[in-house]
Amino acid sequence: MNQTTLILSPEKAYDAEQRYRVVKRSIDARQKQLKVHLTVLTDEHGAPLPKDAPIPLYEPPHFQDVHNAEHSVAIIGAGPAGLFAALTLIEHGIRPIIYERGKEVAERKKDIATLNRNLGLNAESNYCFGEGGAGTFSDGKLFSRSKKRGNMQRVMELFHHFGGDDRLLYEAHAHIGSDKLPTIIRRMRECILEHGGEIHFSTYVDEQLFRSLIANSQYPIGGTPSNSPSGRPLLGVILAIGHSAHDTYHMLHANGVALATKGFAMGVRAEHPQALINKLMYHDPSPELIRLVGNASYSLVTQVQGRGVYSFCMCPGGHIVPAGSALNSCVVNGMSASHRNSPYANSGMVVEIRPEDLLQYPIGGTPSNSQYPQADPLAGLRFQQELERLAFEHGSAPSLAPAQRMRDFVEGKASKTLPSCSYLPGTVSSRLDQWLPEHIGKRLQQGFRDFDRKYRGFLTNEAVILGVESRSSSAVRLPRDPETLQSISTPHLYPCGEGAGYAGGITSSALDGINVALKIAEQKD
Ligand SMILES: Cc1cc2nc3c(=O)[nH]c(=O)nc-3n(C[C@H](O)[C@H](O)[C@H](O)COP(=O)(O)OP(=O)(O)OC[C@H]3O[C@@H](n4cnc5c(N)ncnc54)[C@H](O)[C@@H]3O)c2cc1C
Repeated sequence: MNQTTLILSPEKAYDAEQRYRVVKRSIDARQKQLKVHLTVLTDEHGAPLPKDAPIPLYEPPHFQDVHNAEHSVAIIGAGPAGLFAALTLIEHGIRPIIYERGKEVAERKKDIATLNRNLGLNAESNYCFGEGGAGTFSDGKLFSRSKKRGNMQRVMELFHHFGGDDRLLYEAHAHIGSDKLPTIIRRMRECILEHGGEIHFSTYVDEQLFRSLIANSQYPIGGTPSNSPSGRPLLGVILAIGHSAHDTYHMLHANGVALATKGFAMGVRAEHPQALINKLMYHDPSPELIRLVGNASYSLVTQVQGRGVYSFCMCPGGHIVPAGSALNSCVVNGMSASHRNSPYANSGMVVEIRPEDLLQYPIGGTPSNSQYPQADPLAGLRFQQELERLAFEHGSAPSLAPAQRMRDFVEGKASKTLPSCSYLPGTVSSRLDQWLPEHIGKRLQQGFRDFDRKYRGFLTNEAVILGVESRSSSAVRLPRDPETLQSISTPHLYPCGEGAGYAGGITSSALDGINVALKIAEQKD
């Protein structure tokens, strides 16, 4: 199939998108005059093909009837990794049995509404736990920094198949939105059930259930495995628990599953007026230009004292949300609806943390080798928990977040007032500059100064920072054999997705789910 790339003004690009079959779209805001790069399919003479021309390589999924399949696989967790693994198994004639601690999406919405009204957290049903995992009430940005693209296109095709719009198939920075994701997730569930898969909501996989699943995947318990309709052992157990299930990590550790520390990142969430970010990124845009290309986003990175400081999960026109999953902790994250039209622009602002940093700079300021011993694979988790508890203490129960104006934070001043902010439960003025651990706080201060040098006006008291952004990446890895993808300690256990430390974000977690399912399907063939 021939294609050509057109570099157009936003007006012309908008027009071309309505008429031609676009296979890639990206915005170039480096110059004062914003340009849109559109790659369109053409005929052999170079003429663009119309919008309804078939999409190349698009192969609709073929889900098999697995009600009475010979082979079954247990999946712990119904986030992107677990759901995409389940869909892929069904495509290969294998029956998935999913165990999810949280509720199905409609019920989960009610718990999230309660949380947003500052009426308390349900520790089993929140922004992290429940159908669709942490991806359901998120921004739904579907791109990955990972270079391991693999079946990335397949991930987009499946999201599209279940109701995502056409742009998913070609937009460089595709995004679904928290208003549309729940429907897409519900349709995935309906497909899994219709084809014969099983889903057990509000089912926490504790030590007993975990041990029985693992035992059942190797040899029948008492001779007859109960989880497989064919009476045969499970082909495997996919562990797709995300990175917020700290209790489950502790259970796995106690049961001899191999875990290892890994680098991660923590910091705060920053929010500016969206109009200011539009001005900085798009050089004083007209309302018409914003209508055509959408609110501006940014991606910022700098190095401070040997560690990366960077923006993470930027949500133009979005909201900051209470994303904790444990009582007495305060965790913030960001999301946006499909139109991205709130008056706020938020982003995680995080500092890279290496395992050795935990020894050097423990919370409280006094190094103590016993607090986060390097040999302890859960050291990073303990550090996260400590910081989340500290943020909770500096906020106000149940979910008010500690906040400081950005310039006050950098200059070490208390904020007498706070600007209006999208975080629904509410904010409390707090000296984040004083209580964030030095290796995070000081680097963030310098990072904001560096970002202001790049975009003059970024460092402003119109912006506010909220603590803490602690779940940008997993602090633990569950090492697996690169060939079999099974845990190096536990045969037939397939650590998968973000919680296993092999992915970060919706797309790469979904992709890992597909890859693990394909590996298991090889056993059957
Ligand atoms: C507010 C917010 C916004 C985000 N925005 C984006 C974004 O725009 N783009 C992006 O790429 N990423 C985003 N992310 C991150 C993204 O959601 C995650 O990277 C992704 O969901 C990880 O997928 P996963 O399947 O590996 O794990 P998860 O989505 O975390 O799913 C794990 C599931 O396992 C379940 N579980 C855990 N333990 C147990 C147990 N013992 N028994 C039974 N079930 C269990 C949990 O309830 C959960 O549903 C966002 C996250 C949040 C919180």
